[in-house]
Amino acid sequence: MSDNQVVYNGETITRGPLAYEGKAKQVFETNDPDILWLHYMDQVTALNGKVKEDFAGKGHFNNIISDLIFAYLSHQGIAHHWLTEISETDQLVRRVEIIPLEVVTRNYSAGHFVSRFDVKPMMQLSPRVQELYYKSDPLDDPFMNNSQALSLKIASQDELDQVFAMADQVNNALVKLFDEVKITLVDFKLEFGRLKDGQIILADEISPDTMRLVDQATGKSLDKDVFRKKEGDLRVGYEDVLNRLREHVK
Ligand code: UDP
Repeated sequence: MSDNQVVYNGETITRGPLAYEGKAKQVFETNDPDILWLHYMDQVTALNGKVKEDFAGKGHFNNIISDLIFAYLSHQGIAHHWLTEISETDQLVRRVEIIPLEVVTRNYSAGHFVSRFDVKPMMQLSPRVQELYYKSDPLDDPFMNNSQALSLKIASQDELDQVFAMADQVNNALVKLFDEVKITLVDFKLEFGRLKDGQIILADEISPDTMRLVDQATGKSLDKDVFRKKEGDLRVGYEDVLNRLREHVK
């Protein structure tokens, strides 16, 4: 078996051509039309790709943290695209048609929420905030409201209802999970996709690249904010998150 092949559910999956390269992941076709092969790169970007750096080993942390979180969400009955990890940096996922929306949930104020509304950071938000952004690199992912998403036929009302309900389910599950390992889940971004039959499932990755996580003991960031704010080596926090989750999620 070569590096380009893996056995999944008794089927030999062979990595095919590159379908898409994002800011931190490569997506490959496979011989199974319903399965894609994801490779997590060591690259980190901020400001929608305008600032870039390589951190050896980061892809491994994102891959394994994402694996642990998706496995945990499976136990909570949340439908998602993740199938299995296949190496330190790679995983197999179900092919979906990605809905071009970023769904952000905020439990505490941070990032753009602070600058947009001129509020203090780490203010508890009750009820939690849900926001939509239109996934578009040339437009820098602009904010989008529900009626814009409906009118532009990006998603139907029923799909938006499902997406927001699933984001709440994920939020409840992850707030609890992280609290158990003494981490505060400040905010995070999710993406969703449609299966061939139209079912909506959770897609993309869930890692410190897509969440803000704060250590409850020290108040320190354990996520990409360390890179955004040039506060040192982000891998220290990523490794800490991985170790805490690994011990906790069985
Ligand atoms: N986020 C993301 N990808 C994006 C934009 C945001 O994963 O393209 C995540 C980000 O890591 C944070 C949350 O979504 O956990 C909210 O981000 P915010 O809108 O505050 O934007 P930022 O300040 O991160 O640019």
